Amino acid sequence: MAGAARAGLYAVAVSDIVPVLERELGSAQVIGPGHEHLDDYGRDESPLPEFFPPACAVLVESTEQAAAVLRICLEHKVPVTPRGAGSGMCGGALPVYGGVVLSTERMTRIKEIDAGDLVCVVEPGVVTGRLQEAVEAQRLFYPPDPASLEFCSIGGNASTNAGGPRAFKYGVTREYILGLEIALMGGEVLRCGRRTAKGVTGYDLVAGFVGTEGTFGVITELTVKLLPLPMAAATVLGVFRDVPAAGAAISALLRDGLRPRVLELADRASIDAIRDKSRYRFPDAAGAIVLLEVDGDAEAMPMMMEKIGLRCDDLGALDVLAATEPAERRAVWEARRLISPSIKARYRIKLNEDICVPCRRIVEMLARTERVAAEAGVPCAVFGHAGDGNLHVNLLSNDDPADPAVRKHMWGAARQLFAHTIELGGTLSGEHGVGLTKRDYMPMEQSERVLEWQRRWKAMWDPSGLLNPGKRLPERPAACSE
Ligand SMILES: Cc1cc2nc3c(=O)[nH]c(=O)nc-3n(C[C@H](O)[C@H](O)[C@H](O)COP(=O)(O)OP(=O)(O)OC[C@H]3O[C@@H](n4cnc5c(N)ncnc54)[C@H](O)[C@@H]3O)c2cc1C
Repeated sequence: MAGAARAGLYAVAVSDIVPVLERELGSAQVIGPGHEHLDDYGRDESPLPEFFPPACAVLVESTEQAAAVLRICLEHKVPVTPRGAGSGMCGGALPVYGGVVLSTERMTRIKEIDAGDLVCVVEPGVVTGRLQEAVEAQRLFYPPDPASLEFCSIGGNASTNAGGPRAFKYGVTREYILGLEIALMGGEVLRCGRRTAKGVTGYDLVAGFVGTEGTFGVITELTVKLLPLPMAAATVLGVFRDVPAAGAAISALLRDGLRPRVLELADRASIDAIRDKSRYRFPDAAGAIVLLEVDGDAEAMPMMMEKIGLRCDDLGALDVLAATEPAERRAVWEARRLISPSIKARYRIKLNEDICVPCRRIVEMLARTERVAAEAGVPCAVFGHAGDGNLHVNLLSNDDPADPAVRKHMWGAARQLFAHTIELGGTLSGEHGVGLTKRDYMPMEQSERVLEWQRRWKAMWDPSGLLNPGKRLPERPAACSE
């Protein structure tokens, strides 16, 4: 934990802050000690067995309330951890030093959808899938589609710069955030960015803020870029005997000049996890699937589908399923989105590392992943966004997650995976973020000098070090301390 916020420097006992917050914001906003739901704010979707209890959670309903929490916490020198829906996979929303969790889950207003300007203005707690439905009802399109879209929040997406399958064609969240309203530690409210399609004035605070995982400020409003809704979309599921065959098919399709909006890959272990649950009956020999989605002109769609289907046949597919009707497409996507929760239901430990390598190194990375898992003797399931080189490698175990030896073994395997990723020119996280779980591995990828620049940047936004402490940046090595 950085600077003055190091544990022990709280000006008050953290429980003393609860009555202050209740007085200023009203007790309906504060989930305090003894409340049946307080523990929910000490967990997220990361694979950590620990639980980090906050002193209280404040469920703010406006920018003013968010700013008031940040003012009170600075006055009392109490750490604050911003939280959206708590679906993060790397512990970013966990209050590791206790204190206050500031939740935006009640800030769910879609304030404006402007079809003329192609923008919408929303509060941070809006669930991503609900935003998509609202804009699609007006034939508009918000492309970023994290697989968690049914429950994650748009504020959380901007804070983690979330990706998703459609990032292959349409890019990640950062490309759609035009403007932000941000409440800063101490209570100042900053509005930055624009609502125009283009704009180059000033340093780009919005782009710099997106992806900072709640360590710079709390997003209280977002101005989001929209696109016209594509006229039609179609989904193709190609089933292959193994990952190398699927990898070769992906390379061939891309060489043909195909630019799908989605290009996903899943291995046999991932298929096995959804075999019984999926409405589609996978062939017994299915060892890998490639999920492709194309969009554009409705009239061109049937021909494009046929072309992709025939090409998949040529490339050795065991089966090809083409879906154009919304219900059929939903069934295919349902199968894809079931992979992660189904694996999680089968194993007590699921380290989901979302490494990303340059595209032409994917097949090599998959081979190395298999080797790492075999050497560690742990089951492994891989799926993810093959088009972007972003693979979700799940290292699995049914041993006791709290056993330190088990933990050391699993994270030892993860470290090996990271080492191979970096050797192949990749990065530790393509979309989930650093948070707590990857913080201490950052020096494997980034030099101390680069990390030090980031510490200075953090200190500029949050000189107190009280906002989401203990995340993203490892401690300075002793020799480098100021
Ligand atoms: C089944 C499943 C599938 C997933 N698939 C994907 C995927 O395809 N792509 C992907 O990128 N991620 C994916 N995720 C991870 C996760 O859903 C994303 O990281 C998401 O963006 C987190 O949003 P959230 O609202 O849950 O944020 P939280 O988990 O609550 O918080 C995440 C981080 O953002 C900060 N934060 C949240 N709200 C704010 C705010 N208003 N202001 C400032 N900081 C804030 C928190 O402090 C924390 O550091 C998946 C998770 C699950 C469980």
